Amino acid sequence: MRPTGKLHLGHLVGALENWATLQDQYECFYFVADWHALTSEYADTTALVENSYDNVADWIAAGLDPERSTLFIQSLVPEHAELFLLLSMVVPIPWLERVPTYKEQREQLSEKDLSTLGFLAYPLLQTADVAMYDATFVPVGEDQVPHLELSREVVRRFNNFYQQAVPLLTEPQPLLTTFARLPGLDNRKMSKSYRNAIDLSDDAEAVRKKVMSMYTDPKRIRADIPGTVEGNPVFLYHDAFNSNVEEVEDLKARYRQGKVGDVEVKKKLVVALNGVLEPMRQRRAEVLAKPGRVREILFEGSARARLVARETMERVREAVRVRYR
Ligand code: ADP
Repeated sequence: MRPTGKLHLGHLVGALENWATLQDQYECFYFVADWHALTSEYADTTALVENSYDNVADWIAAGLDPERSTLFIQSLVPEHAELFLLLSMVVPIPWLERVPTYKEQREQLSEKDLSTLGFLAYPLLQTADVAMYDATFVPVGEDQVPHLELSREVVRRFNNFYQQAVPLLTEPQPLLTTFARLPGLDNRKMSKSYRNAIDLSDDAEAVRKKVMSMYTDPKRIRADIPGTVEGNPVFLYHDAFNSNVEEVEDLKARYRQGKVGDVEVKKKLVVALNGVLEPMRQRRAEVLAKPGRVREILFEGSARARLVARETMERVREAVRVRYR
């Protein structure tokens, strides 16, 4: 995850909850992709380190366990850059130019100059990030699937050139995250760049204010007009975060009949959301209460990751025959 701002509910349902569950089944590596943040945010790097620590406090709050998983910072494992460089030697530039997100994001982020080598090559840096650990699976959303296809092609090509008897790099497969995009307060995709997010670190009062300002059914100008539940973000949130199914069904039924006001629906959502976020706030406060604890977790994790990375690079240097004795 790129440390480009505060984490929000979209990150929780779209990534972190899944990451936490995967810990039961797999040996997991999760990292702060600070170099990836630079691919689009190179012009202002002032908040990078602060965001990294803050985001990892949220990871821990969401249930990532530094005892079970390796949590690390990309730039503290500089081997990623070396593997990226070696991969770059065999990758034709058109392979990168035809990645769908390349054109899309350049158009969407038109206020930034993304005609850089770093931005073009970031899916290749991702390839190095996962190949370094012989990752078999990468938990991603639909939009990242083409990146993994590219990763497999790159690994195959690299192996073709340099692999001898033993397998060199492993081809990674996507492990699709099933949750669809969570809308934000204004019904566009929840995103830090749209200022429509409920942050994982928001306090109860901030959550209340934000929910009360949420977009609902725009055709419903009075509480006695029947409303639409489908596609209404307030109900989508109830489905995602309110574990009291009976209450949700009752609200939906009354909403459809024009027998409940938006205020009641939203107030109940505030309670449900704060119920989900409160234990996370506590875990976050706990880890932040120990000065330097998050930093320590990341430095330890990075040292652990680096042991694996060093071994991989030994193998790769040997195979490419750039190894001096
Ligand atoms: P970046 O800017 O690094 O692309 P984002 O902060 O937009 O990353 O998102 C990182 C990850 O968090 C995404 O790949 C996705 O899995 C998840 N995510 C972010 N926003 C949402 C959302 N609104 N709904 C669901 N998942 C989301």
